[in-house]
Amino acid sequence: MNSSDTSEAHVMKDTDVAPRPPILEVRDLTTYYPVNRGLAGRLLRHEAKTVHAVDGVSLRVDAGEFVALVGESGCGKTSTVMTILGATKANSGSVRVKGEETVGRTPREMLPVYRQLQMIYQDPYGSLDPRFRVSDTVEEPLLVHGVGATRQERRQLVLAALESAGLSPADLYVDRFPHELSGGQRQRVAIATALILEPSLLLADEPVSMLDVSVRASVLNLLDELRRTRDMAIVMVTHDLSTAGHFADRIVVMYLGRIVEEGPAKEVLSNPQHPYTRALISVVPKPDPRDRSTPQTLSGETPNPVDIPVGCRFHPRCPIAREECSQSDPPLRLPVSVRIESHRVACHLA
Ligand code: SF4
Repeated sequence: MNSSDTSEAHVMKDTDVAPRPPILEVRDLTTYYPVNRGLAGRLLRHEAKTVHAVDGVSLRVDAGEFVALVGESGCGKTSTVMTILGATKANSGSVRVKGEETVGRTPREMLPVYRQLQMIYQDPYGSLDPRFRVSDTVEEPLLVHGVGATRQERRQLVLAALESAGLSPADLYVDRFPHELSGGQRQRVAIATALILEPSLLLADEPVSMLDVSVRASVLNLLDELRRTRDMAIVMVTHDLSTAGHFADRIVVMYLGRIVEEGPAKEVLSNPQHPYTRALISVVPKPDPRDRSTPQTLSGETPNPVDIPVGCRFHPRCPIAREECSQSDPPLRLPVSVRIESHRVACHLA
């Protein structure tokens, strides 16, 4: 390889288009949950401990971008989106939605933010009130935010939202109760409820994991189409890397409350740099039956988030750990061997 090849292969800008201000900007976010010591623990004055659910997460999401937060259960991805939503209190750090700081706001002060920021939950059965008709559920955000002067006006907005969410013709669904809908239809009602205020950012926590396999793709295709047509950003929590690779622009891999790798989805999947990402990718089922590559099984369980390992928090399970890994915590940075500027990894050896 000659010198010009080397410099070209070194770092490439993702785009030459002038950057737009981000929809979401998270900086050094931390969320700790106190551990209940119990009566005996308090009487014996055991040391108060905390679960480090989110531990210094920084994230930027642009308009129309689809970002997937991936990792094992307990890695902090759901806690991260719940803290961004304001449903869980942050201990420190900053969350800006369209430039507005939201950390430290009361629920009442968060209300205007929810015009821009909506959430879809994992469980389409639990997220709808069984006593409410579809029309009541989807109309509720309009009433809370004072949108739609008349009942008729709000009804039209409800019908339009249901159509946008793929429940067409909307007249067929609008007066039903949740028990009269399938799981996929319920999740579409939840999506319609989230869309009716035309938010700029949708947070989705495993939005298809409780749906039948046959309807998962259609719901994900719907989310993908909505973000493209409405310039709406999506942050989706998922443990399914193949789904993330198919739909997301960017993949953010979390481990024990930290981001350990992030970058353009195709780049992260084709050129993973962190041993944890490589292990996650190795267990994704391969579409080619001739692919005999061996899944990489990580030794041991995820460490206790109360007692975070010193140094790199992945070192007790890392197959290539060295002595320095148990001594210093690697920062998230551009590795030497990658080609894309926004691909960053927290590993001493990357
Ligand atoms: Fe493994 Fe060390 Fe890299 Fe951590 S810093 S992922 S322990 S090689």
